Amino acid sequence: MTQDVRNYVNGEWCDASGGERAKNLNPATGELVGWYPKGGVEDARAAIAAARAALPAWRATPAPVRGRVIERAARLMEERKEALARALTLEEGKTLHESAGEVQKAINVLEFTAGEARRLNGETIPSEMPRTFAYTVRQPLGVVGIVTPWNFPVCIPAWKIAPALVSGNTVVFKPASLTPLTAQIIVQIFADAGAPRGTLNLVLGSGATVGQAVVEATEVAALSFTGSNDVGTALYRDGASRGKKVQCEMGGKNALVLLRDGDVELAAVATAQGAFGSSGQRCTATSRAVVERQVLEPFLAAVEGLAKKIVVGDGTRAGVTMGPVVDEGQLRTVMEYVEIGKREAKLVYGGRRLGDGEHAKGFFVEPTIFAGVKAEHRIAQEEVFGPVLSVIAVDSPEEALAVTNGVRYGLSSSIYTRDLVLAQRFIDEVETGIVHINSPTMGGEAQLPFGGMKATGVGQREMGKTAIDFYTEWKTVYVDYTGTKRETNIY
Ligand code: NAP
Ligand code: MG
Repeated sequence: MTQDVRNYVNGEWCDASGGERAKNLNPATGELVGWYPKGGVEDARAAIAAARAALPAWRATPAPVRGRVIERAARLMEERKEALARALTLEEGKTLHESAGEVQKAINVLEFTAGEARRLNGETIPSEMPRTFAYTVRQPLGVVGIVTPWNFPVCIPAWKIAPALVSGNTVVFKPASLTPLTAQIIVQIFADAGAPRGTLNLVLGSGATVGQAVVEATEVAALSFTGSNDVGTALYRDGASRGKKVQCEMGGKNALVLLRDGDVELAAVATAQGAFGSSGQRCTATSRAVVERQVLEPFLAAVEGLAKKIVVGDGTRAGVTMGPVVDEGQLRTVMEYVEIGKREAKLVYGGRRLGDGEHAKGFFVEPTIFAGVKAEHRIAQEEVFGPVLSVIAVDSPEEALAVTNGVRYGLSSSIYTRDLVLAQRFIDEVETGIVHINSPTMGGEAQLPFGGMKATGVGQREMGKTAIDFYTEWKTVYVDYTGTKRETNIY
């Protein structure tokens, strides 16, 4: 039985107005997961109108009452955890274990954000005028457009939708076309949690039509985007030129640094998890290991040993530790980079597509390790977004830092060392929004800000308290309670 998806506009589940639909396929088996509507500009317009109509009542709802909806959503997501994780594995490919982890992270985000409803504080600030009370309040932005990628199709929508709603905005949600089922389950959770009609609308359809219609709509006040640099920078330009507030989280090329005094075993485990977990399709994936030459050999041997233990296959099957990549396009990209890597450096492990037996119908690639990679090589500079690791040897901590920073991206980084001075210098100088000391490049807790520098991110950080900074704006209030005519300093 297929699990079909519908759009959700103004509190009603509906098909695309043009009646068009497309297939949601399982990347491990090629099987049909279900159909989803291919909405167009009209569907986007209807969703925007519904969000616009729902705005006055929702923004007037007390924030703690809005918070209760998010709190109930957290409980419902917990109850539906297994079904949601399963849907995620079926349509995206990551293992059930990884999917359960992602859903738990989304629950954490919902719990944290529900609490923020009671902390939407402004400030009281002394005025220079007598008998004047000056303060600030946070106010919602209006209708917010949320555009998300396929690689974390539960977590990323959760960490955008929840703070948007808690802050009193209404939402038009355009998820990635590759992961419509998880989007539907999430929206159903918010609906069942009591999000009023029109406050959260779901429109599936291509980014170029539905997404672009949201970007161009004058009624949409702000855009929160996560995805590729190509799409994100165009969306940023198109949104900003229309005066919208825009937040974009985009690509990464994260490095794990191992210095000569660092724990080789721990660094190897973190590298293997970071490079091959979720088939390398994490924005915080470890795609470069930058290693001091003194420990290069034992490090390479340890990572290779861990790669060998990885069981590639259908993520629903017990014992499988790495699923497929998400689709044929992604597979092609990964295999192209493997060919580029073979020309530039030395392939030490993997590098093949797996296409026989149980792998015949899916998009499976071996975990792949390149050594002898130079900092300027394409495989060391460009985002591959697959299970491909580039190992770069360096001769000093200074060179390790320079290599880490020598890419256009700046999401996450990690350093393995026992030397406090070197770790602290790395923290000071590294050009990434997140830095880990003696822990893997990936991960991110709900209550801490998340996001990148340089080409990775523009706009404010997501998650943590900072999420609210994006979804609200300040109003500054002066209350004069002198009650009589007086001299004031007006500049
Ligand atoms: P993508 O191709 O950029 O798509 C992202 C979203 O944008 C999808 O919903 C897509 O819709 C939509 N879109 C496409 N064209 C659009 C347009 N012209 N106007 C408006 N929306 C449009 O990215 P992806 O392939 O799904 O995701 C992988 C990328 O996401 C990687 O680069 C990864 O690093 C990045 N990522 C970054 C972070 C972070 O926090 N920094 C987190 C996760 C992922 P369709 O699906 O219909 O094309
Ligand atoms: Mg894409």
